[in-house]
Amino acid sequence: MTAPAATPIAAGGPPSDPAATATHCPYCSLQCGMELRVGADGAAGAPAVAVEGADFPVNRGALCGKGQSAAELLDPAVRLTVPLIREPGADGGRLRPADWDEALDHAAQGLRRIAERYGPEAVGVFGGGGLTNEKAYLLGKFARVVLRTPMIDYNGRFCMSSAAAAQRKAFGLDRGLPFPLADIPRTGCLILAGGNPAETMPPFVRYLRELRENGGRLIVVDPRRTRTAELADLHLQPAPGTDLALALGLLHLLIAERLLDEGFIAERTTGFDGARAAAMAHWPERVESITGVPARRLLDAARMFGRAESGMVLTARGSEQHSKGTDTVGAWIDLCLASGKAGRPYSGFGCLTGQGNGQGGREHGQKSDQLPGYRSLTDPAARAQVAAVWGIDPAELPQPGVSAYRLLAGEGAGAEGVRGLLLAGSNPLVSAPNAGRVARRLRKLDFLVVSDVVASETALLADVVLPVAQWAEETGTMTNLEGRVILRQAAVTPPPGVRSDLAVLRGLAERLGREGAAKGFPEDPEEAFAELARASAGGPADYSGIGYRRIREEQGVFWPCPDPGHPGTPRLFLDRFATEDGRARFAAVDHRPAAEEPDAGYPLRLTTGRVLSQYQSGAQTRRVDALNAAAPGPFVELHPRLAAELGVAEGETVAVASRRGRVTVPARITDAIRPDTVFLPFHWPGVNELTNPALDPVSEMPEFKICAVRVERAAAVPNGGGAA
Ligand code: SF4
Repeated sequence: MTAPAATPIAAGGPPSDPAATATHCPYCSLQCGMELRVGADGAAGAPAVAVEGADFPVNRGALCGKGQSAAELLDPAVRLTVPLIREPGADGGRLRPADWDEALDHAAQGLRRIAERYGPEAVGVFGGGGLTNEKAYLLGKFARVVLRTPMIDYNGRFCMSSAAAAQRKAFGLDRGLPFPLADIPRTGCLILAGGNPAETMPPFVRYLRELRENGGRLIVVDPRRTRTAELADLHLQPAPGTDLALALGLLHLLIAERLLDEGFIAERTTGFDGARAAAMAHWPERVESITGVPARRLLDAARMFGRAESGMVLTARGSEQHSKGTDTVGAWIDLCLASGKAGRPYSGFGCLTGQGNGQGGREHGQKSDQLPGYRSLTDPAARAQVAAVWGIDPAELPQPGVSAYRLLAGEGAGAEGVRGLLLAGSNPLVSAPNAGRVARRLRKLDFLVVSDVVASETALLADVVLPVAQWAEETGTMTNLEGRVILRQAAVTPPPGVRSDLAVLRGLAERLGREGAAKGFPEDPEEAFAELARASAGGPADYSGIGYRRIREEQGVFWPCPDPGHPGTPRLFLDRFATEDGRARFAAVDHRPAAEEPDAGYPLRLTTGRVLSQYQSGAQTRRVDALNAAAPGPFVELHPRLAAELGVAEGETVAVASRRGRVTVPARITDAIRPDTVFLPFHWPGVNELTNPALDPVSEMPEFKICAVRVERAAAVPNGGGAA
């Protein structure tokens, strides 16, 4: 698995100004390096913080608008600064300020009351892909050791769990990218399926530009002609929900065009016969009829990719967030394996992770089925090792609970589902699929505790709200999309009423755990990381050779890194894959329709996504003036032909309705989208009330990317108006 680096990893330097603090952006998985300089005259007594892009390997000085404006989140006016407790009363009562002891006592009493009455599994924990590794690790430990509940999962399940599941099946290991970003410009042909980094992580685009400057080819697969698609040599525009057929069609053409790497298939893979049989049933004309992509463009793509000396396929949410997302990613991986474009320099499959710590967040135990080090909760050896680190009997560790949507929707833990929930760093009222049902369910909970930086829509429903520190106010590690463990360093102290998530967990452990339980919940992040590293030893995501000093000195360390003398692993699989026999496994999958296809009542496909100036549920970015000015609210993209059929003009308010919900938003008319598809960005409340929670059977990722909708002029709809 470990092999010599093919090219040096680009190195950055220490902060150019010794008075600056080197840290990383609070948002996406690129985790751009930043330098923060602190002045004395900020808003409302807070220090003024100037943000500048650092010469860090991933961003080389660049930041997008979200990163550039991140210091606005430090303004006490936009964030929580005091704990809140709900006073009973009409309309659900109201939140009033409280001191920390009262808030933690109240939170502990509420959770304990439910556990005593209904059993420990009646209390759930919901985490987030933005939490640091230390927080994710201790949140998982808290659920299993203090609450003794199996009911823990996190919003990363919504983000890239299908890619994770497919990579584990194929390669025996899941890391977003098996190579550093610096390798991308050196590949011969890159297929980017279902991702729009020009809007989600703009500094990434330089790697695509450099790829093309070096003579490499770029193929973008997206139902919309996005800013990223405009950079491509070839843009394939399939209907949402048909990427699986597209990937199978490309494999069919690789076979037909004799562009297979037979030697690689024989020496380094297993299961090709099944994949070939599946691909042979997806001839170009059939794939054209399913996807809408002309057969001749499929052939262009297959030749471009198959004839290149090296190649990569990168998927993102567009290919992954489907009820067949794991199979779809499996088919993309098959394409790499069949053409020998995996496990070699400048070749391979990768996934563009979304959330800042989407990678680390899924490695250290906040997922319902996993223990730290990316180990399985059902593996007896893993249970024994982690239990030993935690000082408990392995038999005390709960078995896996239910996945994120099921947990939020009230499944598991008996007919009622969980009755109490501790939720950290997530805003499912906006980001969960079928969000209307999730909101109704959260309102019905007996007790909800939320720790967050801001008063998100979900926090405002809580019985107790705990205001916690954020990126520039605390130190902790994140693992970026490359598998590089990086260190966010505190530059300012948080406002007086704010504590760290680690202090919250310690405070709750003190109140809810066995005697001495709090000792297992250090407030010092470096101490927490040292324990995480020990707990991960020997696991797939082995961090045991990583420490804070080393991360600072080396500008991040790539896992696995099993001992302090190990160099880390920027490139995976060059010698062997991480399966038992060292061979990659073909997926051999068949196309199937989406869970909800268009019909007479709902004749259009809805696909959702992101815009440049907002991030995820918008809980943070909707509080930043410059970002709000650039992207003030949701809209729906309509093709001119569809707009003409509906009689809708540019800017006119229209209603978009699915079987689950309805929003009214202004129309944007653009020929960048297919006539049979409409697009809504999901950063605002209401949009996800439309989306379908149909789950992938392997990853349990919901089908955010396609559901059936109808669009009507709002004036023609009763109760029209009132944007979501
Ligand atoms: Fe932050 Fe991502 Fe923008 Fe970089 S690309 S500045 S990490 S939001």
